[in-house]
Amino acid sequence: MKTRYLFQFSICFVGLFLTTCFVNAQDAAYYRNPNFLKVLNRDTSYTNLKKKVVNEFLHASPGAWGEFIKGVDEDFYTKHKYIAFTFDACGGPHRNGYNAKLIDYLRKERIPATFFITGLWIDANFKTFMELSRDTLFEIENHGFNHRPCSIDGESKYGVQGTKDASQAFDELEANEIKIEALTHRRPIFYRSATAFMDESGVRMAHQLGIQPISFQVLSGDAVPFTAPSVIEDCVLKNVKPGVIVIMHINHPEWYTYEAMEKIVPKLRKEGYEFVHLKNLHLYNGILNKK
Ligand SMILES: [Zn+2]
Repeated sequence: MKTRYLFQFSICFVGLFLTTCFVNAQDAAYYRNPNFLKVLNRDTSYTNLKKKVVNEFLHASPGAWGEFIKGVDEDFYTKHKYIAFTFDACGGPHRNGYNAKLIDYLRKERIPATFFITGLWIDANFKTFMELSRDTLFEIENHGFNHRPCSIDGESKYGVQGTKDASQAFDELEANEIKIEALTHRRPIFYRSATAFMDESGVRMAHQLGIQPISFQVLSGDAVPFTAPSVIEDCVLKNVKPGVIVIMHINHPEWYTYEAMEKIVPKLRKEGYEFVHLKNLHLYNGILNKK
């Protein structure tokens, strides 16, 4: 009798496991960038909004191009020793990695962190993305649908080709907002452009869509491949002060981001610093402050 129950229980368990795998695999395929964009382009609420927004930029000039364009936040106002650690997950060829050691460390040390994630990285790390999004220690924000710097005339930076017109800029911003919201049930509030470069029109478009562009005040230097942990540590510790946004990456396990964080965090905590999510902060341009 007992054996029969055990057998039935095992069948149920395996069935549940297979169903879960199947559903997840189906979901992953549905949300992959090329398919998801096709779905959005059949949805009139998306296409109508796109038409309306893109029309406003048909004759617009791109304006200034850079990391610190007016309307982008790079730091925040605080009376406390607060710092925001932000990490990009870029995605695309050679950028689809996952720094598990770093994430384990953030979890072990209970360090709240903000992740800027692209649609491409989600496609390559679907299960991991879903796990990260369920962890309240992490705030999931938008790093663009295809990891293209947000431009209305095809500017590029560090060899990364920007969006070529307002239509592509719209998809880069909004398609990833909708994709992340569909998967996490929360629409991202913040956006960091690929390479952090964007033009003034891109900033204006983001604001129109209710998205706040974010740059950084402390460049950790982890994105220069194989920078030694001590160099990253110095970059952060020398430039840190209350209200800074630090930029790092979670998509290159071969870089020394984790090894540097392991040195940086105890030192900052000793100095009385605490780590916070962007959504809880008073940003100077922040759209949340204006609501
Ligand atoms: Zn990136």
